[in-house]
Amino acid sequence: MSRRCTRFIIIVVLVIICVALISVINVGELSVAAASGVYGEKSTSYSKSGMRFNASERTGRFSNDNMSSFYRKSKYTMGYELKVNLSLDSCQAVPDLLVGRLKIDFEAALKSAPPPAAHDVLPGGAWSPNSCVARQRIAIIIPFRDRQKHLDILLYYLVPVLTRQQVAFQVFVVEQYGNKAFNKGRLMNIGFTEARKHDEFDCFIFHDVDLIPEDDRNMYTCSENPRHMSPAVDKLGYKLPYKALVGGVLSIKPEHYSRVNGYSNLYWGWGAEDDDMYYRLSASKISVLRPPFTIGRYKMIKHDRKEVSPAKVRYYLLRTVRKRFLKDGLNTLEYRLVDTRLEKLYTRIVADVGDPPKNSDKISAFVT
Ligand code: UDP
Ligand code: MN
Repeated sequence: MSRRCTRFIIIVVLVIICVALISVINVGELSVAAASGVYGEKSTSYSKSGMRFNASERTGRFSNDNMSSFYRKSKYTMGYELKVNLSLDSCQAVPDLLVGRLKIDFEAALKSAPPPAAHDVLPGGAWSPNSCVARQRIAIIIPFRDRQKHLDILLYYLVPVLTRQQVAFQVFVVEQYGNKAFNKGRLMNIGFTEARKHDEFDCFIFHDVDLIPEDDRNMYTCSENPRHMSPAVDKLGYKLPYKALVGGVLSIKPEHYSRVNGYSNLYWGWGAEDDDMYYRLSASKISVLRPPFTIGRYKMIKHDRKEVSPAKVRYYLLRTVRKRFLKDGLNTLEYRLVDTRLEKLYTRIVADVGDPPKNSDKISAFVT
């Protein structure tokens, strides 16, 4: 009887030891998972550079406030990280901070610039929220020459919209050097190429300098498909003039932008480089989304139109997009970087985009 009892006790003790061993192994695995970033994705992807610096700084601050006794005692440092990362929430997809329709007054903006939300924007125009982890890091690419007032007005309204939307962003103003014909497509491609040297971005938003958002519910993020964010512009009666329009403000993931080979480099002077982009997307079977017209609203700042490209050249290029686009764009882009400067609210990239071809008013100049 007593021998049976002893055997029973030995079995119970063995079972207890087994259970204890299994739970220790589990804790180890959890720590390994955290160390390898399975649970710690937020901190691993946000820890290296300027914009991500905010997030890792936040992780540090968080750690001092919330260290639990378990993690303080634990020799598994990454286990402690695990707790921190689980505590840091993603920002809301549609933050409570949004106010909806905005009152836009160009003159008032010029008088009172810089924008009220600008105090914690890093030099070069980078910002990320500090109460949550931004869902996307976006690069705003603004093609530019000689429109400083427009830029001041745009940033006055755009920066507070972006901070309320709680997206991590950096603004790039891509300025064409010299006074040859403007080439917006090349500037867009240069912006895309140069921005990626500064950071890893999830989303690119190509933004004319003279379009001012009228509603902060129009999210500056990328959806699964490219989104034409400016379908309703005051100057166009808040109506879309034609279905193929993607000019103005366009959000697009870098994968899609690369897949269509970016914008064409061949459009000199005003006109049609945006329509060319639409045909690139449709040839690649990438459909374009639009926000509701009540939200995708913009006010356009008046300006003169300078050189307009000859219509016959424009139409020739548009007719030949499909067979040309994989040989004309990002993979054939040439430029000379003249200057990169970190301004208070944006990174200014000055680039020499080259010269238009001789006889650029004739189709023959573009036939290869
Ligand atoms: N742009 C510029 N300087 C110029 C011409 C164009 O900065 O001399 C940029 C600016 O961002 C502008 C965009 O290119 O919003 C599109 O050009 P524009 O406004 O002349 O064309 P629209 O869209 O009004 O037809
Ligand atoms: Mn314009």
